[in-house]
Amino acid sequence: MGLLSVIVPCYNEEENVSLFYETLMENQSYYTGKDITLEILYVDDGSKDGTALEVKKLRERDERVHLVSFSRNFGKEAAMFAGLENAGGDYVVIMDVDLQDPPSLLPEMLSYLEQGYDSVATRRVSRKGEPPVRSFFARLFYRLMKRISRTEIMDGARDYRLMTRQMVDAILSMKEYNRFTKGIFGWVGFQTKWLEYENVERARGETKWNFWKLFLYSLDGIAAFSTAPLMLASVMGVFFCIVAFLMIIFIVVRKLLFGDPVSGWPSLVCIILMTSGVQFFCTGILGQYLAKTYMEVKRRPIYLVRERF
Ligand code: UDP
Ligand code: MG
Repeated sequence: MGLLSVIVPCYNEEENVSLFYETLMENQSYYTGKDITLEILYVDDGSKDGTALEVKKLRERDERVHLVSFSRNFGKEAAMFAGLENAGGDYVVIMDVDLQDPPSLLPEMLSYLEQGYDSVATRRVSRKGEPPVRSFFARLFYRLMKRISRTEIMDGARDYRLMTRQMVDAILSMKEYNRFTKGIFGWVGFQTKWLEYENVERARGETKWNFWKLFLYSLDGIAAFSTAPLMLASVMGVFFCIVAFLMIIFIVVRKLLFGDPVSGWPSLVCIILMTSGVQFFCTGILGQYLAKTYMEVKRRPIYLVRERF
């Protein structure tokens, strides 16, 4: 079939690097049988531990192991982008190094490419082993995204995805700085087969994400793939204008009919507080998009390489 590049983003994962390699190689005979050559590209996202060292040790045993090492931690999004840019394969797959994206699924995924699909994506149907609050907000995020974005973003979708060269090139043509790969996959389209599997817990080590980081990441996702929040500001503006207009009519009529003296200081304060609150909120939304635009126009590189082989 050709060359298959396996992209593996790693951040402080020294204990998983060789374990991942061994697990991937369990299906070696399948790939040889199908005439598939492997290329394993570890992207070391500025790890502070011996991740790069572990990769070098693997390289001494196996020429097919490659490394792109960042000058600092740029985040998983940048690591995946670097992987795609440096992969030479006819097919490319992105996999977490912690074995939460089971390499045992790969043969099945490849069989779908043979059937003519451009891409095979995975989603986990359960979230066992995850804190319930995290699952709840994750679900909420996907439900919200479904409503406010025209790009399809699947609930429980992983970054574990097999793609043809054509799709990889399409993704690489999107040079945006604020990258939200789950959205980018949906945006480029192509014929995608979805595979489902039960959540697998991390092999070794700790997750790099906490609730707050995930929350900020979800806001990035919303800003990158929806302008609905900007619309919200306009809608609220119109709504408050209508309410204000009705109240003016009410007060004028009441004055004419009953000659009501000026009263109602508390209600006035409430109204002022409420409307100024809404105004700040809307300015905040505007600010978020402005900040994103600011980062985009700077055209900074998405990652910087320290070492590569
Ligand atoms: N990762 C990365 N850069 C980061 C954080 C994470 O390259 O800044 C990698 C990490 O090494 C792993 C993958 O992204 O291979 C997923 O991270 P993790 O397992 O911590 O996330 P979770 O599976 O808990 O969502
Ligand atoms: Mg993980």
